[in-house]
Amino acid sequence: MNKLPALIWGKRAAWIRRKLHFNIVKIMLREHRSPLKALKALKHLMAFRRKQQGLERIFKFVKSDGRYFWSSEVPGFPSPRLAHVLKSELARHPNNTGTNGRPPAMITLIWGITNRCPLSCSHCYDWENIEATDKLSLGQLFEVLRCFEGEGLKHLQFSGGEPLARFSDLTALLREASKRMDCWLLTSGFGLSAEKAHTLKQAGLLGANISLDHWDEEKHNAFRNNNQSFEWVKKAARNCKEAGLMVSLSLCATRAFVSKENLFAYASLAKEWGVHFIRILEPRAVGSFAGQEVHLNGESISVIAAFFHQINSDPAYKQFPIVNYFGYHQREIGCMGAGNRYLYVDANGEVHACPFCRGSKGNVLKASFTETVKAIRETGCHFFKNQE
Ligand code: SF4
Repeated sequence: MNKLPALIWGKRAAWIRRKLHFNIVKIMLREHRSPLKALKALKHLMAFRRKQQGLERIFKFVKSDGRYFWSSEVPGFPSPRLAHVLKSELARHPNNTGTNGRPPAMITLIWGITNRCPLSCSHCYDWENIEATDKLSLGQLFEVLRCFEGEGLKHLQFSGGEPLARFSDLTALLREASKRMDCWLLTSGFGLSAEKAHTLKQAGLLGANISLDHWDEEKHNAFRNNNQSFEWVKKAARNCKEAGLMVSLSLCATRAFVSKENLFAYASLAKEWGVHFIRILEPRAVGSFAGQEVHLNGESISVIAAFFHQINSDPAYKQFPIVNYFGYHQREIGCMGAGNRYLYVDANGEVHACPFCRGSKGNVLKASFTETVKAIRETGCHFFKNQE
């Protein structure tokens, strides 16, 4: 078995960064046969990433199966999948230095494959879809998957409901999808045993985003309305790591949670568990939170942004997981959902701007997916206006 995934920082990260830049120039040279255009493309991508993340450079990577990852939302380097994404990013450049006129493709897609879930979390964004049985058959899910591949997607996130509640179908879909896409799992950790982690790894899974909403066991379990959830998450993280999967903890940073102390306590626990990424989501008034005052105020947003920058760039935190904070990115460059760089397809096949901006624009099994994506792009995001 390959070496287990590991965090890379310092001189090794600097070397990987140089290789990444060289790889981008090589891709652009192949695309344009012009060294000048290739260097311009590299300059544009670096400036875009600096704006999007507010970080001078990528300080840390996760090495897994010979590839390097700086986010759980983007294909790893080196790979044709990342090359595809980079070319697509350049298609957004006003001078369109990248892709010979091809429209920018989406980077990733969040896909609900089951209506079932054993939990009833306080903030469940998908509550109206949670049922005792699944609406779509495995055959229909394969049909949906073919539509995604038709859109040239290179990264896919399996969600639900709780995708592990439909384990054998999940592995069947994974075996197929992972031939052409980087595949991640979004899960509560429910029943993610060592055996299941190994089966998912064999089926082609790269990593799991496991939801942990507090470093304090009782507070997490209370938020998830389940007194075993914290233990599930802890075991799931260990089992995934030992199976050679990358692990990301996914935090819904509520008003009650956001403080410098809680964020750093959370990061210390994540480091102790040896996880590779932390993904921070802001609460939204959808699903079980609908009609509630949950949005974060400016002060809380600044606290998270400061934490995000410090953990990702301060040498004192070099051995801490890489933090992804979408709220920061979206305030800098606008929303990446709504078909811009991703969208959400729920367990009924309905296409939404994202899990938090609900309102179907079409069903993958009943309408042209390409046309539905176009329609969603025209409507855009309910929350963040595109600023590119
Ligand atoms: S948030 Fe996820 S784990 Fe929680 S009830 Fe909803 S689908 Fe289940």
